[in-house]
Amino acid sequence: MRLLISGGRILDPQRGVDGEGDLLVDGDRIGEGTRADRVIDARGLLVVPGLIDLHTHLREPGFEYKEDLVSGTHAAARGGFTTVVAMANTSPVSDCRATVEWVIGAARARAVVNVLPVGAVSKGQKGEELAEIGDMAAAGAVAFSDDGKPVTNGELMRCALQYAAMWGRPVITHCEDRQLAGEGVMHLGYWSTVLGLRGIPAAAEAAMVARDIMLAELTGGRLHLAHLSTARSVELVREAKARGLAVTAEVTPHHLLLTDEAVATSGFDTDTKVNPPLRTPADVAALLEGLRDGTIDAIATDHAPHHQDDKDVEYNYAASGISGLETALALVLDRLVGQGLLELGQAVRALTAGPARVLGLDRGTLAPGAPADVTVIDPSREWTVEPALFASRGRNTPFKGWKLRGQAVLTLVGGRIVHEAIA
Ligand SMILES: [Zn+2]
Repeated sequence: MRLLISGGRILDPQRGVDGEGDLLVDGDRIGEGTRADRVIDARGLLVVPGLIDLHTHLREPGFEYKEDLVSGTHAAARGGFTTVVAMANTSPVSDCRATVEWVIGAARARAVVNVLPVGAVSKGQKGEELAEIGDMAAAGAVAFSDDGKPVTNGELMRCALQYAAMWGRPVITHCEDRQLAGEGVMHLGYWSTVLGLRGIPAAAEAAMVARDIMLAELTGGRLHLAHLSTARSVELVREAKARGLAVTAEVTPHHLLLTDEAVATSGFDTDTKVNPPLRTPADVAALLEGLRDGTIDAIATDHAPHHQDDKDVEYNYAASGISGLETALALVLDRLVGQGLLELGQAVRALTAGPARVLGLDRGTLAPGAPADVTVIDPSREWTVEPALFASRGRNTPFKGWKLRGQAVLTLVGGRIVHEAIA
């Protein structure tokens, strides 16, 4: 694998260039007569398109004590991500042109990876009145979502799909029937009964997935389902795709690797509290099968950094979420590919070309002409997850102490090195 980079783009390696800032990432050997300002020896390493995270909570503006554009995008770069899709549940909520433009401007000034803003579906994410979808799309919002809060009102969801479709943008949905979920804090099943914690039934997700698929069919809109967690949801998406509907889906590393039993084995560690909750082994198996057969398009982190104070409370009161940008790649490589549950090509696609396709981005590829977003991975580097060493301000991870193999050692965004740890 040889990559020649110039002017922030990937060039055809057959054509020599000598522009300023040329960079050659060479996985084999340096060709005769090739001139570059810098040559990176990537022999024995994996050179892949920069990873794209469809689901990141950067927390800025408003919750900088949890994360900001600098800490969040440094965490992304370390994790091998060159593009993150920033969710709108900030304060203020990103629900109008001014906030979307602010995020784009602030990211340009301070972020080290590409930040693509999501606009809210409803004003203030209150689920009552549609936000200014067209205005935000024109300002650069790549998708619309009230993530963090489900869109309970079906008519509002219908309008959102219709308006977003006029701009060729998907609506990203956090599928959860709020009434069914009730006061639940983990999956409703054996372990919630044993532990005496209130449970969220799998149907709370699947029922909403079914509704949103029907609304996508009704409107012809594009629907992207965030963080699927149940077997039934996967079946519904498989059927929707078979019928040719514009439906895509993502899954998180934690829903692929942990089950609700982790709440018990961790001794009520609040870092196992996520929304949707960790489910059963049968759900995990169905999610993996969905990823393998293409029903699920992408692995997304749902990076949800929290302050220690948000987590250092009783399980019932703890905030939901995992700081995921710095562990996602290694978890996938070590625990899925390494265990033979996923092929390397499938894993890389789910982190690059898959998410690019969901949003129609010209990224997730190393083809000549593409932006030089590149991640170089050392597949054999062993490391231990130590949250205290995270670039992210959020140290909330149930994977603390896990020994993993595989790490991003070089991350390039537009040809610029934003993370480097080559041995
Ligand atoms: Zn969500």
